[in-house]
Amino acid sequence: MAKMLENSPNAVLDKSLIQHYLTLPIPDGKCQATYIWIDGSGENVRSKTRTLDAVPTRPEELPIWNFDGSSTKQAEGSNSDVYLMPIAIFNDPFLRGNNRLILCDTYKYNKKPTDTNHRVTCLQAMDAAKATQPWFGIEQEYTLLDMDRRPLGWPKNGFPGPQGPYYCGVGADKVYARDIVEAHYRCCLYAGINLSGTNAEVMPAQWEYQVGPCEGIAIGDQLWVSRYILHRVAEDFGVIVTFDPKPMEGDWNGAGAHTNFSTKAMREENGIVEIEKAIDKLSRNHLRHIQAYDPHGGKDNERRLTGRHETSSIHDFSAGVANRGASVRIPRGCAEEKKGYLEDRRPASNCDPYSVCEALVRTCILNE
Ligand code: ADP
Ligand code: MN
Ligand code: MN
Ligand code: MN
Repeated sequence: MAKMLENSPNAVLDKSLIQHYLTLPIPDGKCQATYIWIDGSGENVRSKTRTLDAVPTRPEELPIWNFDGSSTKQAEGSNSDVYLMPIAIFNDPFLRGNNRLILCDTYKYNKKPTDTNHRVTCLQAMDAAKATQPWFGIEQEYTLLDMDRRPLGWPKNGFPGPQGPYYCGVGADKVYARDIVEAHYRCCLYAGINLSGTNAEVMPAQWEYQVGPCEGIAIGDQLWVSRYILHRVAEDFGVIVTFDPKPMEGDWNGAGAHTNFSTKAMREENGIVEIEKAIDKLSRNHLRHIQAYDPHGGKDNERRLTGRHETSSIHDFSAGVANRGASVRIPRGCAEEKKGYLEDRRPASNCDPYSVCEALVRTCILNE
């Protein structure tokens, strides 16, 4: 067992033993359904599993369930039941076979959405904007941590060499735990998530994967399940995943969730005109977007959007072709083809994609 993971109870278990149990047959037609939801932090996911007598094909067929919201910062102890409403079904890459992951959103005792259920208003915006066919692609950056919450593979009493060799790096002294990255990639494709790529990031132990393009609400559903799968895979390896947007102070890159966005008109001939119109609207709504782009209304992004390390300043809006120091970038290829999409570089890695994509649609499409 790798020495640096000795203090992780998950990493010291012999993971080959589980294969015996997972290949045990279960009665025909039965399905283990793992219900997944966003907890009261607005950042973390929770899950619990139940047995169903049939394999579900549509969310409406699934039972509504509940959980103890007083343990997840979603309810008071005296009125603690929170409802889980199934909204999307994915293949379960851990249990395989007929088993399923069920993404849910959460409702209080009075059937109103919980405070961290941002899907409801996002869906309303997506429905109102449906005719424009909004597409989103999110670049999810994250950092792997050892059990002491220090980045994985970093010296315990010092720092790795300065940034430079690690981005898209190859080799034992450049990247750490590619196993987790590859396992997560395969799991997402198996689950039915539109994962479009992955790369090692600028800070050692930091990685990125991209989800999309997805139309409308699907981007949020798929990104949240991809995060669940990442935590779950890393758990098997005894490693922690953090989406903190600035895990290490100093000369180390933070972690974002660049959100690439287009409408049908932007993707068509001379769509650059539409892209520029959207950027103009974004420039006049900077604060609204900063407030929507991390779970603490801009507080988390204050540490990351410094104007250094390939970020823009949190205080100003800026845009430019191929400019990675701007709030919004038009990719070089889109400027050349005069159509395509824009990249909003402001969302933090721990953002709620429902809030980010809702803000983009309300500003750029619904003119709210
Ligand atoms: P970067 O050069 O910023 O690192 P990436 O290749 O990591 O870009 O990510 C680009 C993202 O843009 C992908 O998630 C991709 O699915 C998404 N994307 C591509 N075309 C569109 C489009 N027309 N609308 C929205 N998103 C798009
Ligand atoms: Mn990228
Ligand atoms: Mn990146
Ligand atoms: Mn990017």
